[in-house]
Amino acid sequence: MIKFLDLQKVNAQYAEELKKVAAEVIDSGWYLLGDHVKQFESGLVSFQEGGNAVAVANGLDALRLIFKAYIELGVMKPGDEIIVPANTYIASILAITDNQLTPVLVEPDFDTYNLDLNLIESKITSKTKAIMVVHLYGSVCWNQELEILAGKHSLKLIEDNAQAIGARWNGIRTGNLGDAAGFSFYPGKNLGALGDSGAVTTKDAELAKVVRTLANYGSAQKYVNQYQGLNSRMDEMQAAFLNVKLRYLDQETLQRQKIGAYYLENIKNSRIILPKADVVAEHVWHLFVIRSNNRKELQDYLSENGVQTLIHYPTPPHLQECYVDFNNFSLPITEQMHNEVLSLPISPVMSKKEVEKVVEILNNYSSGTV
Ligand SMILES: *Cc1c(COP(=O)(O)O)cnc(C)c1O
Repeated sequence: MIKFLDLQKVNAQYAEELKKVAAEVIDSGWYLLGDHVKQFESGLVSFQEGGNAVAVANGLDALRLIFKAYIELGVMKPGDEIIVPANTYIASILAITDNQLTPVLVEPDFDTYNLDLNLIESKITSKTKAIMVVHLYGSVCWNQELEILAGKHSLKLIEDNAQAIGARWNGIRTGNLGDAAGFSFYPGKNLGALGDSGAVTTKDAELAKVVRTLANYGSAQKYVNQYQGLNSRMDEMQAAFLNVKLRYLDQETLQRQKIGAYYLENIKNSRIILPKADVVAEHVWHLFVIRSNNRKELQDYLSENGVQTLIHYPTPPHLQECYVDFNNFSLPITEQMHNEVLSLPISPVMSKKEVEKVVEILNNYSSGTV
């Protein structure tokens, strides 16, 4: 069986180092707001090549905290509108609605799976305060017109960078393109912790300060509470693990890019639609997502041939029970995508043989009923 993602194998590569730092944290007697977190934050700033970083508890909180901070700073208020792709992972939308902001769901582009940047301007109203782009599947969603549009309407540009750490647009790291970005280090992400954690990055030192305070009960000074905050801190253990794994991220990304390029070049089957890799942007292949108008048949065929695949995501946010008010929105492209997408195995620990096998099986796929 070729696993979709063999996390055990991913972390086994670093087991010795991970155990060593875990022992250090245990022995230190210091588990929160300590040196490992500080080291991770400065490591992330170096990796990002600038800006400020605040380590938090998870990716959803990173995004929630950005909006919460903008509200505290008076940049946004409940009821304001945030433009966001309709086909994103639900966490992007939850971060908006949790702050009593209104998500304005915009259709993606069929080729890139990312927010269709041409559709944004018509969605801007007097209440719009930000555009949240999602670099979905590790593919950069950005262009110069977007920057110009945001400038023209005084909108914040927020990046959901949960899936794209390490990617670049015009040489600039994602997460450093806009005003603020949320990162996730969920174990299955490209930089995965051994549990939950996340981060906010921003060029805006004032915003970073408010995010940091909000993530610590709204308190910058012990027992003095400036805001009604959350408890959303990254713990020392996860930071220590991430300090180890961050050193290998570029190398792992390169591995993903090799597999991505191999799939793109070698999968040749008219029944399968391949993703389009943008040449201006550097794709980090968090996921390699193909499309088929007969997905169930294709997924069963792959499974019968020993290839595990997943669907990201089976149901779009607007059709979820928790968003009953959005259930009758007309988002045909989003819905079609959710019916067609299928994620192939891709990870830094896949062997060349496994990658070739996946390609061979896909190229032999004819009717599925053979
Ligand atoms: C994973 C993910 C999140 C949320 O991150 P968590 O760490 O799981 O809370 C947000 N947005 C996107 C696009 C994601 O893939």
